[in-house]
Amino acid sequence: MATVKKKAAKKAVKKSAKKATKKTAAKKSAAAKAKPGKYVYVWGDGKADGDGSMKALLGGKGANLAEMSNIGVPVPAGFTITTEVCTYYYDNGKKYPKTLDAQIEENIAKVEKVMGKKFGDLENPLLLSVRSGARESMPGMMDTILNLGINDEVVEALATKTGNAKFAWDSYRRFLQMYGSVVMEVEAEAGEHHDPYEVILDEAKEKAGVKDDSGLSADDLREVVEKFKALIKDRSGKNFPEDPRAQLKGAVNAVFNSWNNDRAIVYRQKYGIPAAWGTAVNVQAMVFGNTGKTSGTGVAFTRDPATGENVFYGEYLIDAQGEDVVAGVRTPKPIAKMAKDLPKSYKELQVIRKKLEKHFRDVQDVEFTIEEGKLWMLQTRNGKRTGFAAVNIALDMVKERLIKKEEAILRIPADDLSHLLAPIFDSKAEKAATKVGSGLPAGPGAASGKIYFSAEESVAAAAKGESVILVRQATSPEDLRGMIAAEGILTTEGGASSHAALVARQMGKVCVCGAHNMSIDYDKKTLTGNGVTLNEGDELSLNGFVGSVYAGEIQSSPSQVIQGLLENKAAAKRSDTYKKFMELMTWTDKLRKLGVRTNSDTPEQVEQAIKFGAEGIGLTRAEHMFFEGNRIDSVREMILADDDEGRAKALKKIKVFMKKDFKGIFKALDGRPATIRLLDPPLHEFIGTMTDEQKQDLSEKIGMSASDITKRIHSLHEENPMLGHRGCRLGISYPAITATQVEAILEAAAEVQAKGTKVLPEIMVPLVSYARELEIQKQVIDETADEVRKKLGLKKSQLKYTVGTMIEIPRAAITADEVAEHAEFFSFGTNDLTQTGLGLSRDDSSSFLPAYQDAEVLSNNPFASLDQGGVGKLVEMGVLGGRSVKPKLKLGICGEHGGDPDSVKFFHRAGLNYVSCSPFRIPVARLAAAQAALEEKGLARGEVS
Ligand code: PEP
Ligand code: MG
Repeated sequence: MATVKKKAAKKAVKKSAKKATKKTAAKKSAAAKAKPGKYVYVWGDGKADGDGSMKALLGGKGANLAEMSNIGVPVPAGFTITTEVCTYYYDNGKKYPKTLDAQIEENIAKVEKVMGKKFGDLENPLLLSVRSGARESMPGMMDTILNLGINDEVVEALATKTGNAKFAWDSYRRFLQMYGSVVMEVEAEAGEHHDPYEVILDEAKEKAGVKDDSGLSADDLREVVEKFKALIKDRSGKNFPEDPRAQLKGAVNAVFNSWNNDRAIVYRQKYGIPAAWGTAVNVQAMVFGNTGKTSGTGVAFTRDPATGENVFYGEYLIDAQGEDVVAGVRTPKPIAKMAKDLPKSYKELQVIRKKLEKHFRDVQDVEFTIEEGKLWMLQTRNGKRTGFAAVNIALDMVKERLIKKEEAILRIPADDLSHLLAPIFDSKAEKAATKVGSGLPAGPGAASGKIYFSAEESVAAAAKGESVILVRQATSPEDLRGMIAAEGILTTEGGASSHAALVARQMGKVCVCGAHNMSIDYDKKTLTGNGVTLNEGDELSLNGFVGSVYAGEIQSSPSQVIQGLLENKAAAKRSDTYKKFMELMTWTDKLRKLGVRTNSDTPEQVEQAIKFGAEGIGLTRAEHMFFEGNRIDSVREMILADDDEGRAKALKKIKVFMKKDFKGIFKALDGRPATIRLLDPPLHEFIGTMTDEQKQDLSEKIGMSASDITKRIHSLHEENPMLGHRGCRLGISYPAITATQVEAILEAAAEVQAKGTKVLPEIMVPLVSYARELEIQKQVIDETADEVRKKLGLKKSQLKYTVGTMIEIPRAAITADEVAEHAEFFSFGTNDLTQTGLGLSRDDSSSFLPAYQDAEVLSNNPFASLDQGGVGKLVEMGVLGGRSVKPKLKLGICGEHGGDPDSVKFFHRAGLNYVSCSPFRIPVARLAAAQAALEEKGLARGEVS
């Protein structure tokens, strides 16, 4: 039957309610610490109002800044305006709680005290950063403003106080650049490829004859400031506000507003983050990495987030602010070099690296700044990582005794296991390919596709079914849709922690970034490297494991896990990836309670599925056996037959194919159970799309004229074939159809059994609404079975089978107690149950579902992830009803949801015995099932990001 048309949108880290780390939880629960009416939480100087357990209220960033302050890591003082304020803001027509202003003032004073500076002061001014911080980190999706509190007077005070006019003017121009774009919305206009502020900066650099921003003098920067102000005035019609408190208000508003900007909404949809969570705003004392050669700034991961290797991984820039590193404006240096440039700070950083990993018991993604030799930590959060890294890190940390096996299992987003199964380039083909460049291997995997230079073009090309490689100098959050649409991402600028790298890694996209030996001409739409120029639409290949870029398409080969598992290749079996994957799977099997079966229709698929860990078949769709070669002719003949005789002739042919396939399947199963579903052919899939040629061809084979075939197709035409003459309705109208299949199944079973292989057929009746339908079909099955046994001279005990039904129509779920009277098992067909439960066509809804997701009516495609609140209720009713009659009734699910982690967890909670999914989703289902079992025990990922 029709499979779900749209591929399940990959969902990454969807979180259930999380517990804090044991350490913080032990102190005091988050709820106990949150105080009603308290909207602002301060930290600094080794203490804090909040802690790492308060992510829901303070956002990830705010909670972790508080936590770092509490454990004695040097953090510039600051305060968090809570997520509750964000919710209030949106619920009350963008107004704030009455006491908020006073609370902010009170806390500015506290920060001033700790830092020994004053906000807006003309002697010793305090500058602030204002950043978003949601419960889940949403890198780059919302707004940030640095150096807030600077104006024409403060800049002079800053210059005098620091004795560094260049730094003061550099800070001012940075502030204008951010405030202008974020708050005053003066940014690149549609069709403008270059940021207008960068254009002014580039002109200044050219005029001064320098390459980097840091080469500009105080006077150059003073001129840049004037030009920025003019740009803002010119494009917005307004002067930027000189008053620091007005600046702060504007910045806080902008951050709260950015919770609902287009890219944040897209991101939330992709990762299932509820709009109701809101963001917090973090206001923090600025420390400066751009005050000269003893200052700097950087970002680092405590382990390699692409591979998981236990090496300090990151990059930094001397005399720069954080945004320079992330935005890829200047090319940062690898972190190891810092040991030479800033040895004292590097040592301190190493100590903090260990301390943070030990405290948070997970890989940390940190930002730091060194101001004149003093190291400050600006952020820590659990590092986003690829599927490879997630598995490596989790297993390594178990070995290092940092975490337990259970924690390791909970930490690996089940969907990310699919990264380990994704193809890699065929090594011979890669050697023969033309290398046109190289960059940093930021997202592992292999991807080939057509080059597009903008997000919009990438989205359009992907919508046409093309495989796309998005090529940009650097990506920005505006490129998000393009990145989602692309198979791979290439940037020519930026480092391993650039936006492209972070986002690609999280999405599991193949990514090569900072390919400096390549250049892009956006106007001409060309990419040049190694003397080769490629145009838009040309094929390009990326090896994200090593960072190589090739012209043309390269043939790929299966991943090491697939080579080891399915192809039994010894070299692959020795690989670390394969070994860790296998170890993890062993752990999951010890923990899970849910069985995992497969949806497979051929002996080959069954063999694969078993290697992936399937414990049996949860669904063989009998009609799928006829999609191959000319087999479909016999099903068409059966459907088109207008009398019993014609039907019997077609059924005879069908039986031959079926019996052969069932024998292969039973052999491949080697004693494991097989749920075989009787034919459920929706007419449009078999006869609705027949061409004249096919009709002519069939006519010769079945002896019915082409015009008679056309007439018969017309007479059989259904307006709603999904709700038409399919499933058990066929067997009710024509019992011979059911009987023939049962003969094929049981004769095959008897023959395989006779050769010594145990066979456990479970015959499943589709599309049942009424108990009576199942009763009638069961009678046909039992009578046929008696005849088969009689024919073969077998006793009842010598040829066993069970009869059950799909629960895929709401009526069957609601009347499950009645249906169960005739069933030995149920399997929930959640594809049809979603279709009929929601009244939502499986085949037609993809055109309007995106609008529903945009409007946040749905956060997921209900055909990919179960609608737990609606269709899930039907499943629960089915479970209750069925087991009220037969307490041990075996229950499974065989809709597409059987391979979706969130849905798998739901089925565990609902009390099903097993889930069934396609072979390649089995590892994901095994892991999700283990996670469900752990979550049932009250365990949750001890995450503090
Ligand atoms: C279902 O409806 O969930 C199911 C498994 O059957 P099919 O997809 O073949 O309709
Ligand atoms: Mg169905």
